[in-house]
This record gives sequence, C-alpha cells and structure tokens, in this order.
Amino acid sequence: MKYIGAHVSSGGGVANAPLNAQAIGATAFALFTKNQQQWQAPPLPEEQIVAFKENCRKFNFAPETILPHDSYLINLGQPTPEGLEKSRKAFIGELERCHQLGLVYLNFHPGAHLREISEDECLARIAESINIAHQEVPDVIAVIENTAGQGSNVGYRFEHLAAIIEQVNDQKRVGVCLDTCHTFAGGYDLRSAEDCEKTFAEFDRVVGFKWLRAMHLNDAKSAFDSRVDRHHSLGHGNLGEEVFRYIMGDKRFDGIPLILETIDPELWPEEIKWLRSLEK
Ligand SMILES: [Zn+2]
Ligand SMILES: [Zn+2]
Repeated sequence: MKYIGAHVSSGGGVANAPLNAQAIGATAFALFTKNQQQWQAPPLPEEQIVAFKENCRKFNFAPETILPHDSYLINLGQPTPEGLEKSRKAFIGELERCHQLGLVYLNFHPGAHLREISEDECLARIAESINIAHQEVPDVIAVIENTAGQGSNVGYRFEHLAAIIEQVNDQKRVGVCLDTCHTFAGGYDLRSAEDCEKTFAEFDRVVGFKWLRAMHLNDAKSAFDSRVDRHHSLGHGNLGEEVFRYIMGDKRFDGIPLILETIDPELWPEEIKWLRSLEK
C-alpha cells in the first residue's frame, strides 16, 4: 500500500497539520514543527502535542506516514566550529520536537561545505553530527534527503548518502529520502521507465533500498543535471509523468510516506488522486 500526501502547513500550531492533510485526501504528510526560517523556537505547548497526536489518530496517520522536515538554516556539515555548533544544537532541538510528538522520522538536507572544506570532510562532519544527535535524543530516525547539489550542497550523488550512512554508529536510526526533482537535477535521469529502472538499480547498488524511508514526489522546473533545485507540479516540468507511473507501480515504494512538495498547493488534491489512480 502506498501512503501519499504533501508538505502541509502547520500554521496556527502543529495540530493543524493532520487536519490540513486530511482535507486534501492525503494518507501521509510532511510538516515543519517550528518556523523553519528561525533558529529559535518556543517549546511545543503541551496542549498542541496532545491535540497533534489526537488528530493523527482520528485521521489514521500512523507515525511511519509522517515526515517532519527540519529548518533549512541547519547545516550539519558547516566548516566553522561556531556555525557547526549552532546547527547541531538546532538539529537536536528538531529531533526533540519529533520525539515529543511521538514521531519516528526527521527529514533533513545533509549540508554544504561552503567551499571551505572538501566534500569528504563535509560528509564526515554530517555523520558526526548525526552521531552526536543520536546520543542526545532517543528513537527518532535521521532521514537524509538527496539534494540537487545546488551551490556547495553535498548529497547529490548516491555515494554521498552511502558515505554518511557508513560513518553513522547507530545505523538503525538513519535512513534516506529520495526527491525525484533533486535526483534528476543531480544528474540521474528519470524521464522514461528505462531511466527509472537504471537510476533506481544504481541507488540500490550504491546505497540500498533497505535504507529508503520516504520519497519526495516533485516534477522539475530545472533541467537534467543542472544542479538547480526548482520544483514543479507533476507532469508540468522537465521530468514528465513516467517517473510517477513507475513509482506508483513498484512495490519497493510501498509503506513509506510519498510526499508532494510541488509548487501549487491548489493542485495537491488532484495530484494525490492522480497518483492513487496509478497505484497497482
Ligand atoms: Zn524535497
Ligand atoms: Zn528541493
């Protein structure tokens, strides 16, 4: 069974996110647990935590179908010690919030080397950041997202994801989220069924499907191998429809949150309906 949803708003409090997801016909959702443009956040009020859990239960969103996303400010591969410290602290805060909400995942972008350290050093730093965070907060699984490789971001090669996982001590608590737009912009083609076959075989060989905990389903405004991160509505961009047909027809994507981060929220109900119609 496929769990399909979108990155919905948690405006007015996290307890609204499951309501917003239910309203668009979703069976999965992503959310920010705090304002993602700010470093600091007030602690989650107890009544929000209770209401969040209640709404999730009421609308059948199990923790495995919910994919919280951390703040875009966080860079776990930061070259400077002060910057790194700040990011690690904020990341631990994000994990804590997930734990308080009874959630099992935290989705994050690995980090950027800012042209001050090598990619390998950056990847090692990211793994060390995960190891530190694991010691501070129990249970929550750190879900590394592949990137388009824009700017100095690492994570655009499957080898990067494998290198981070390899250096994590508690491997039960690490996983991967593949974003179709990032994969394509990062240089792995997905435009035809044959391209999908090849790219996912490569992912399986280098990383392994056993690590796949979630997918972001986005079409791409950016071009193939452009290293530019620009999402588009499904079927409207340079990726086209085939990749979504392929994913919905493939059992390897069962049982994990499949999340839209497409650019027009008005289209989410239709996009979800269309994806569901492709499920085999
Ligand atoms: Zn994404
Ligand atoms: Zn993106």
